[in-house]
Amino acid sequence: MYKIANINFIAAIAVIGGALFGFDISSMSAVISTQAYLCQFNQLGVNEQNKCMGPKADVQGGITAAMPGGSWLGALISGLLTDRFGRKTSIQIGACIWVVGSIIQAASVDIAMLIVGRVINGFSVGICSAQVPVYISELAPPSMRGRLVGFQQWAITWGILIMFFICYGCSYIKGTAAFRLPWGLQVVPALLLFLGLLFLPESPRWLAKKDRWEESKAVLTLVHGKGDPNSPFVAHEMEEIREMVEFERANADVSYMELIKPNMINRTTIGVFTQIWSQLTGMNVMMYYITYVFTMAGLGSDVLLPSSIQFIINVVMTVPALLWMDRWGRRPTLLIGAFFMCLWLCVNAGIFGAYSVPPYPGEFTSESESMSITGPPAKAVIASTYLFVASYAPTWGPVSWTYPPELFPLRLRGKAVALCTSANWAFNFALAYFVPPAFANITWRVYVLFAVFCFAMFWHVYFFFPETACKPLEEIEDIFDYSKPGSIKYLGTPAWKTHNTRATTLKKERGELSAEEKVGFEEHKAEHKEETGAL
Ligand code: BGC
Repeated sequence: MYKIANINFIAAIAVIGGALFGFDISSMSAVISTQAYLCQFNQLGVNEQNKCMGPKADVQGGITAAMPGGSWLGALISGLLTDRFGRKTSIQIGACIWVVGSIIQAASVDIAMLIVGRVINGFSVGICSAQVPVYISELAPPSMRGRLVGFQQWAITWGILIMFFICYGCSYIKGTAAFRLPWGLQVVPALLLFLGLLFLPESPRWLAKKDRWEESKAVLTLVHGKGDPNSPFVAHEMEEIREMVEFERANADVSYMELIKPNMINRTTIGVFTQIWSQLTGMNVMMYYITYVFTMAGLGSDVLLPSSIQFIINVVMTVPALLWMDRWGRRPTLLIGAFFMCLWLCVNAGIFGAYSVPPYPGEFTSESESMSITGPPAKAVIASTYLFVASYAPTWGPVSWTYPPELFPLRLRGKAVALCTSANWAFNFALAYFVPPAFANITWRVYVLFAVFCFAMFWHVYFFFPETACKPLEEIEDIFDYSKPGSIKYLGTPAWKTHNTRATTLKKERGELSAEEKVGFEEHKAEHKEETGAL
């Protein structure tokens, strides 16, 4: 069957998996305040204006959290799927499950059915969100890896935006079609993903791991060699993959347990925390519950349009990362993001703390009324919320997907990234569930909490997260591989002294290394081989 060779095109199709993720995020936020939804899933009866009040707060938390809950499981299980069936097939399985979940959601007649549909959709998103980055990072040339995996984040932001507008438009429809139509339409991208994947090559690294060397080489030739199996880059990649596979077969056991062994625990912690911190930035407070936040800021019932502005900011501000994140490197991007998000969260906490008024006793009906502000402070909160989103979008958003697959060796990558992504979902679940009651109970202090997390993540990154940008995946091994005598490179080079090696990598990919640089490179490799018995 015809296979697509252009790496940008390959990534563009694969990241439709990310768009599914985005769809699920905003399929709730635009709907939870519509009467069609509130009446269909009503538990609280009607108010004086004869309007349905919808599900109870904790049940709404449960409905929202059902999707990240399912995703957590899906992400974890994806590690087994991907090792057995391959990266591509796992993503296709995810797409099929998505179709089933969307149909159930769209047809929901009660809360239980809605929750089941969302758990199934979540399961699919868990598989796709974990395995798309693995797939792309195993196919991408090192100098473009950040950008190509970052496409996943861009697709997430597009998914959020598109679904939000579809829901917004549909909210004008009378009756339950207001939510059934958008939830049903979700099957379209999943079908596109499934069909599109038929025309994409499998990961050459996974093929090699399964001893399918001919196919592995054919993929490298197709994607990187412009059809020439003897191109220097194909030969170089093939050699690195072969050495890695042989070394791993000879030296390492390959189970989930390896992730917590002394030579791996450091990266496992870093990878898992990349995803945990990305959630603890508080970004999803803005994504899931933005309508609450803007209601507090006095926008009354007219919150959908200002909310959509933040989703647009999210899409637009991801672009700089796609263009430059391989130049910026991972560390500076994460540090700057944590700094600015901390700042905007402090601003929000300060303004809400100083100017908000609590509801009168007995008047409190939902979390969106747990406090309110008006006038200039309200405008400042909206501005600072937008700035927060603009700080997350080019930093933690894309890097949280690019960084984990870069940290791990081939034999463990599928499982390790599955674990990291499941941490994203575990915290996503917890936040979706706890943010509404948190606003109700500790009001503006919710922002303080997230600001403290941003402060902590800044220092965690500063001291422990090494730079991985633009290094070949097999070379990143070097940074961490301090278990063998003589190769304590990483301990000798603390994280804050590691650098982006983009210039050399680019030259290597283009076959432009000078004779001197080539000798230096080979010497370095030989030296390392001698020290570690590997690579
Ligand atoms: C996060 C999601 C978040 C989204 C917002 C992703 O990287 O994992 O939880 O909703 O970014 O753009």
